[in-house]
Amino acid sequence: MIDFCVLGSGLAGSTIANLLKANYSIQIIDKAKGIGGRASTKKLNKLIKFDHGLQYFSPKSRIFKKFLKKMLKKKILKIWEGKHLDFSLKNKLESEKIIGIKGNNDLNKYLLKKIDVINNQEIIKIIRKKNFWELHSKNNLYYARNLIITFPYVQSKNLAKKYLPNKLLKLNVKMSPNITLLLKEKRSTLAPFSSIKLNDDIISWISYENSKNRFRSNENYWTLQTSLKYSMKVINKYKKKKSYYSNQIKRKFSNMFGLNNLNLKIFKLHGWKYSFSENKTDLDCYWSSKIGLGICGDWFLGANAESAWLSANKLYSKIKNPPKV
Ligand SMILES: Cc1cc2nc3c(=O)[nH]c(=O)nc-3n(C[C@H](O)[C@H](O)[C@H](O)COP(=O)(O)OP(=O)(O)OC[C@H]3O[C@@H](n4cnc5c(N)ncnc54)[C@H](O)[C@@H]3O)c2cc1C
Repeated sequence: MIDFCVLGSGLAGSTIANLLKANYSIQIIDKAKGIGGRASTKKLNKLIKFDHGLQYFSPKSRIFKKFLKKMLKKKILKIWEGKHLDFSLKNKLESEKIIGIKGNNDLNKYLLKKIDVINNQEIIKIIRKKNFWELHSKNNLYYARNLIITFPYVQSKNLAKKYLPNKLLKLNVKMSPNITLLLKEKRSTLAPFSSIKLNDDIISWISYENSKNRFRSNENYWTLQTSLKYSMKVINKYKKKKSYYSNQIKRKFSNMFGLNNLNLKIFKLHGWKYSFSENKTDLDCYWSSKIGLGICGDWFLGANAESAWLSANKLYSKIKNPPKV
């Protein structure tokens, strides 16, 4: 039986699995078909990928900066060059933007090297037996001595409800949605920017995928994210009217920049139900050595990938030094 089963291959799951692998046998299970969680990429073809979740790393803490520096040196990550504009369309002097060499799940892939990852398996039920966990997906059963869950708060809570203390069940964690539209454009001109943050009622962020220098193409590729207000309005109904909402966002984009709407082709519309947490908790992770259950994820500490990484590191230090009874 394996020592640790980690549920989720996002940055929290990839980080904790990577830290534990030196001393324990590890398995990762994820419901998605690829790895990366909210840092996943969407492939248009062999060459072209969109970062449709996490846009860039922008480290704040000393230890995350140090870690990313190591990843830059190893050429897993690189600096996203070019003009990053704010809504006034003036150059924005902001901290560095760091991205994956090929896609923003490159870091997850690196951390999960040589770790057994099972995709397309949604865990729907967990049962603590005498000294191990039994995990149920629709068609399979998995077993592990210890279990680590790394889903967004509501999903983690729903799965592990029976085994969590009141303190965790009663946390007030609000996670906001986001709608992302991926577009391909028959090029009229190269964009004079890499990204723009907007103060618009529909579109809040535009990323020019070509500016990441990962491929060469005669077409332009765009990742658009919608504003919080628009995302909240649309998240529960977009699936039934994908074409309507895709066209609404596309039209707004073409009007904004005077582009020919006919040159823009919709590649994908994706809704993230739990994209960013709106608040922090006063915890950094959860670990019960009694039943071998851990939880980590961005929502403990904030609304970005750095928080997911920090939470996983905190959990690792707790597992290494179990509380004395
Ligand atoms: C659109 C968008 C843009 C963002 N932009 C940025 C940015 O620019 N910079 C930044 O720092 N952060 C950004 N973020 C936030 C960042 O992506 C997250 O903070 C980080 O990726 C969270 O990692 P995590 O491991 O905690 O969770 P997740 O990445 O959500 O990982 C959870 C994993 O669990 C899996 N899972 C869920 N339920 C089950 C189940 N029942 N069984 C099996 N597997 C399951 C999921 O498939 C997923 O892979 C963005 C997020 C979104 C959505």
